[in-house]
Amino acid sequence: MSSQQTVDVVLVGGGIMSATLAAMLSTLEPTWKIEILERRPALAEESSNPWNNAGTGHAALCELNYTPERPDGTIDISKAVAINEQFELSRELWSHLLTSGRLADDAFLSPAPHMTFVRGAADVDYLRRRAEALRAHPHFSHLEFSTDPEVIRSWAPLLVTERDLDEPIAATRAPEGTDVDFGALTRALIGDVAARGATVRLEHEVRSLRQRRDGTWRLRVRDRRWNASPRRRTIDARFVFIGAGGGALRLLQKSGISEAKGYGGFPISGQFLRTTNPEIVRQHQAKVYGKADVGSPPMSVPHLDTRVVDGEAALLFGPYAGFSMKFLKHGSPLDLVRSIRPGNVVPLVAVGLQNLDLVKYLVSELAASPTRRLRTLRAFMPSAHPRDWELITAGQRVQVIKKDAKKGGVLEFGTELVTSSDGTIAGLLGASPGASTAVATMLDLLDRCFPDRAATWAPRLREMMPALGGEDWDDALALHQWEAGDQVTAEP
Ligand SMILES: Cc1cc2nc3c(=O)[nH]c(=O)nc-3n(C[C@H](O)[C@H](O)[C@H](O)COP(=O)(O)OP(=O)(O)OC[C@H]3O[C@@H](n4cnc5c(N)ncnc54)[C@H](O)[C@@H]3O)c2cc1C
Repeated sequence: MSSQQTVDVVLVGGGIMSATLAAMLSTLEPTWKIEILERRPALAEESSNPWNNAGTGHAALCELNYTPERPDGTIDISKAVAINEQFELSRELWSHLLTSGRLADDAFLSPAPHMTFVRGAADVDYLRRRAEALRAHPHFSHLEFSTDPEVIRSWAPLLVTERDLDEPIAATRAPEGTDVDFGALTRALIGDVAARGATVRLEHEVRSLRQRRDGTWRLRVRDRRWNASPRRRTIDARFVFIGAGGGALRLLQKSGISEAKGYGGFPISGQFLRTTNPEIVRQHQAKVYGKADVGSPPMSVPHLDTRVVDGEAALLFGPYAGFSMKFLKHGSPLDLVRSIRPGNVVPLVAVGLQNLDLVKYLVSELAASPTRRLRTLRAFMPSAHPRDWELITAGQRVQVIKKDAKKGGVLEFGTELVTSSDGTIAGLLGASPGASTAVATMLDLLDRCFPDRAATWAPRLREMMPALGGEDWDDALALHQWEAGDQVTAEP
């Protein structure tokens, strides 16, 4: 038996991306019928769960990979400026929703100064030049820099306690940094849109979808509740957003849109060390990012983080990257195999051959002994003791594999928003720059999928996010539309 309805918008997945788009659309078009379908029994159980990501409000205040060094030794800060402006858009939307009473409080957002910490003369020199380059820009004028262990101790004592100070060290500190509980934010945003009339269906998995002659989409949905009746339903929608995280690739493939052809996914798993020992947690109130080891992928940049989840503070260290065949933490080991299509075999094989070292690295990380993990932690926090730290499994990333005319295929660490030419469907692939920039990504989606509404929506969007400025929002968005291939992962 099946039941059927037609809605304006279906959002597949109950994570931060769908939540953000739902909040925007319900403001812009309050009469639209919006439906959110989530396969898990609760919202934000995958990447948006606070213990599955690092909760860094990425504003380029601490991540070295946003400020590459040019061949002439100067520092390129353009990506850092762009990411900083994108995060500002997120903060403005949250602030608008708070002041208009749609979010009850800002408990999801906690102050946590962002620091970068390096060791050794060459890295100290780079950090100094980077700080100078950034401070010249008004967005980063508050950035502090020091090589003095006592100053660094006053910022983050655990970095210096029991450290051999023969080796030079340096740190930068941005006091305005934040820790974000994206799980709490997801639930709050979706709670608000549900109160405004949206339908939220948990344990509803979208199994397939196809476009009908009239341009609308028919989704086949499985109700996973044990007592479901009917177990299968179909939903017709004028617009579909596939915000299914690691599940997005397969659904985009099933949609049959030509724009999704040739994409593949490369899954990377992760683990964190966590401590809730109040003695240790009390001594560290910052997010401290370091430098990735030579040869390791960008998402393995180590960092020691203050986390505030459900009002409780903890420290998180990692991530330790690994390899898994799953595309979702609650997914299937067959996910990778099932994503193989005639159209993406060449890119997949090409990327596999080009990145054997990465696969080897990930497998070796997975097999890393507790002693090796502790050694990495002690490079940050020399006084760390294993009894205080537990190992937790982080969210699953699916890095984008794309066709490439020269190489056959390339592995990317950015995000790819795939939209159909008629603007009736969009899906988000990849994991970076992440939840922090969800608002900018969703503005990009609005721009690409609803061009006919730009004139009507622009004033309302500017009211919500004054940083969009006086221009059209698509002009303002140009600030974050650097080539996906240039993007660097910032959310380890
Ligand atoms: C280890 C790690 C650390 C990170 N650190 C940071 C950080 O510090 N800062 C930051 O900004 N970002 C960070 N990120 C990135 C950030 O977590 C993600 O970009 C963001 O959570 C993605 O949100 P999403 O809504 O697209 O996906 P998700 O949160 O994964 O949500 C997708 C949802 O879709 C559901 N779903 C899947 N398939 C279906 C289907 N067929 N039908 C119905 N529902 C389906 C899933 O169950 C899930 O709930 C990190 C990610 C990882 C993995």
